[in-house]
Amino acid sequence: MKSTSPGFQPALWTLLALASASTVNAGLDRTERAVARHAAAGARAAEALLERTVNIESPTENVAGVRAVGDAFAGELRAIGFRTHWVDLPPEMKRAGHLVAELEGTRGKRLLLLGHLDTVLRGEPFRREGTRAYGTGATDMKGGIVVMVQALKALHAAGALKDRRITVMLTGDEEDAGLPLSVARESMVALARRSDAALSFEEAVNGTATVGRRGINGWTLEVTGETGHSSAIFGPERGSGAVYEASRILAAFQAELGNEKYLTINPSIVVGGTKAALDDYRGTAEGKTNVIAPVAIARGDIRYISLDQEKSAVERMQAIVARHLPRTGAILRFDDAAYPPMTPTPGNEALLKALDGASRDLELGPVPALDPGRRGAGDVGFIAHLLPCLDGLGNGGGGNSHAPGEFMDLATLTPLAQRAGVLIYRLTR
Ligand SMILES: [Zn+2]
Repeated sequence: MKSTSPGFQPALWTLLALASASTVNAGLDRTERAVARHAAAGARAAEALLERTVNIESPTENVAGVRAVGDAFAGELRAIGFRTHWVDLPPEMKRAGHLVAELEGTRGKRLLLLGHLDTVLRGEPFRREGTRAYGTGATDMKGGIVVMVQALKALHAAGALKDRRITVMLTGDEEDAGLPLSVARESMVALARRSDAALSFEEAVNGTATVGRRGINGWTLEVTGETGHSSAIFGPERGSGAVYEASRILAAFQAELGNEKYLTINPSIVVGGTKAALDDYRGTAEGKTNVIAPVAIARGDIRYISLDQEKSAVERMQAIVARHLPRTGAILRFDDAAYPPMTPTPGNEALLKALDGASRDLELGPVPALDPGRRGAGDVGFIAHLLPCLDGLGNGGGGNSHAPGEFMDLATLTPLAQRAGVLIYRLTR
């Protein structure tokens, strides 16, 4: 899913690429140096794989396209010893399912590597300008999967995949997950339960990695009031009307919950009047200035860093709703399609520390954590309560995800594949 930061620092990434090509890498052992070398040697193939997969259109609803992208990556993974299969979802869900590739060894930590095959938009083919690669899905997130594959190929070439236990899961519906989510993510949860750590290859924003991503849910506020002549508003018989009640509730959300770190509540659309109706994205309303509005409806989202924060916020929002103005009523409902949060944990921090160490030893510089407030929800949230997770291991230098003109910086592929390769080696040896 989209990152909310601009995330393009060409100078930094060009420096990284140069550094990775030339340094001695004193902190690395022999295998790690081989991994770094093979990752660099795989740069051409990585770029070709990016071009090939970007040129297969795979918006979530294009089930055949998502499958074709998955099959392209599956071929690459089979060539280095993985066994692949598709996890099918119920046909009425209209989603492509998930590609799973497994290496069934006996050594080291059991790793789950995550990516998604689908894109939001469609229609822009691969195009290279300097080190920038444009095209739908270039940075969100075919580039990230290419980094993962480039790293795994380098590990394979260095003999460091032998007898390892690594599972790759590439979901087909991250951008618009099939419903119910419990079914769409059942297989991911099952894989997480038999893994020791998960690494997700969404875009690396400004050289950071991600130890926390906020969860998100949607809500609908339905408000009712008495109608009648406008001159009677504020009075005992007609009360305040639905528009004042909706306004009171929304203003109180901001006043009482608006200063909590990582919590945001966004009313995105409001309608009110004598008549008002609202579907997912579009509303209608009518009324006259001399009539008290009997109906108001608002929809919005809520984002939170932990399930505890969500629970507490929901309770306080419901308490605000319940303090009705005279002769009004309101119901606040939450969707049952929440993306759960990836809450920062000591386990996640430990993975970041391992990545930071790998990066420093490769002389690619430190890897700080991205502010969790600056990243949207993602697939990793569905399993983050089960095991240590780290996200943002994918390509860098990207921009315009979920928008026309999407791009990534090809110069980041190799340093980030080296970083991921050494991290995976250290976690699984
Ligand atoms: Zn994404």
